[in-house]
Amino acid sequence: MITLRGKGASRGIAIGRARLLQRQGSIPSPKKSTDVMEELGRYERARAATIEELQQLYERLLGEIGEEQASIFSVQAMMAEDEDIDEAIRREIMEGGNAEHAVTLAKDEFSAAFEGMEDEYMRARAEDVRQVSRRILEHLHGVEANPLVTNEAEGQIVCAEDLSPAETVGLDRRLVSGIVTARGSINSHTAILARTLGIPALVGVGEEWRKIDEGGLLVLDGEQGVLYVAPDERVLGEYQTRLSMEAEEQRELLSFRDKESRTADGRRVEICANVGSMDDVQDALRQGCDGIGLLRSEFIYMGRDELPSEDEQFGIYCDVLQAMKGKRVVVRTLDVGADKQAACIPLEREENPALGLRGIRVSLKHPEIFLTQCRALLRAAVHGRLAVMFPMITSFEEVRQARELWERAKGQLQMSEIPYGESVEIGIMIETPAAALISDRLAPLVDFFSIGSNDLSQYTLAMDRQNEALDAFYDSCHEAVLRLIRRTVENARRQGIWVGICGEIGADPERTADFLNMGIEEFSVVPHAILPLRRRVRNTRVETTEGQTIKKEESGETWI
Ligand code: PEP
Ligand code: MG
Repeated sequence: MITLRGKGASRGIAIGRARLLQRQGSIPSPKKSTDVMEELGRYERARAATIEELQQLYERLLGEIGEEQASIFSVQAMMAEDEDIDEAIRREIMEGGNAEHAVTLAKDEFSAAFEGMEDEYMRARAEDVRQVSRRILEHLHGVEANPLVTNEAEGQIVCAEDLSPAETVGLDRRLVSGIVTARGSINSHTAILARTLGIPALVGVGEEWRKIDEGGLLVLDGEQGVLYVAPDERVLGEYQTRLSMEAEEQRELLSFRDKESRTADGRRVEICANVGSMDDVQDALRQGCDGIGLLRSEFIYMGRDELPSEDEQFGIYCDVLQAMKGKRVVVRTLDVGADKQAACIPLEREENPALGLRGIRVSLKHPEIFLTQCRALLRAAVHGRLAVMFPMITSFEEVRQARELWERAKGQLQMSEIPYGESVEIGIMIETPAAALISDRLAPLVDFFSIGSNDLSQYTLAMDRQNEALDAFYDSCHEAVLRLIRRTVENARRQGIWVGICGEIGADPERTADFLNMGIEEFSVVPHAILPLRRRVRNTRVETTEGQTIKKEESGETWI
């Protein structure tokens, strides 16, 4: 038995067989082939298998997560069919290189060419070239490049050097019981997606991941951040017991599905879901959510070349509102920039994108994109209980301008005599220290605040949430972050507006009592965290009651 340690990115236990997404080191170094025709045949079969599996993946995901995200795989299928790349590979094989060498050379040549392009969309294609080549190489080695479309038994633990958000979303949750990656940070969007999918995950295992054998038995503990490779009987027995206890706990949790989100002393709160697709919405409903507290609308814009039209967006928002049957749906307006790039919104290359053009700044710089989204939202509001919030706010002026555009969108609809919803709540994300510090001035402009602690932590600590090297320093519940949250809640309550939290720490049961005591009224968490959180809330007594002054820090210090 070998014990590997990493960072637990998504809780839960998985026992299953290893499925390697990439066998590092198994690709032979370039060498000359002796049989050109045989090499060509091997390459052709690997290429055809790659095209087929990408098309299958696209078709399956189309129904599950929608065209926007699924299209990543149709683009990759087209890439696998690309004639120029194909020709370059064939030429190399004809000159005596083996298939692996030819594919690797073409990958380097074409990904470098894409990377050097001006256009943002074309630059992003470099990653597609690498991923497609990797699949072809894996087929050349007889490793099933995508074990996730097969119909094998459940309980596969996917192991990879790293997984992109697109690959993570492509995992078939019926077949995959766990994820292990050599790299990656617990605050990355990939880790958040694993939590959203409810799949136990371990990231940052390091080079030792090469010790995992294809098909070998693994025990993954996403809570403790441990992976047992070829576990001995004692460990296996212990985890089998824990797994059945977890199943028992799941059954107990299900009894909280239809219970109210109310503290032990009777205070009503809302436990809502963070979603990024229709699939997540269905998941959230199955978990008994009180509403949607964060719909990451940027997912509608990602993985496509053209902007989504007003009608297309209208259709998506209506679908969500109708599925939620009168429960509140908070849609966050477009939040692209930094790690979230959308090819249909070309942004200049930036030295420091995390501090660059992102969130509401993009919408204010491109009002026509924002107005289209606002009109779609306003029209959809007729069909349910809609709330809208603006991301990455730093100033009074940004909120004023965003609201002005919102009103302009109403005017445009009026002019065209198109019906729209009148009573949409408007809120802002508090996810920059600037917004938290001036939350007293921002509160009168809006109906609610939603605290985005993921970004609030990264900007308060001046630490990139994506950077795995910082995990040891990164404390998303740092005292400074908690002070900013407390200050925000205090200012919201003084102004009589409600305040929620939609960052990841809202799901941390260790913090529930603190957040309730502060006066947070809405928790928006990944769907699988809803029931544990409801149980925790129902077992918690709050120390303050509504309207009472909120306690200062224990030190008695007053705010900055
Ligand atoms: C946040 O920053 O806390 C948040 C919820 O937004 P995202 O994780 O999408 O940046
Ligand atoms: Mg954010």
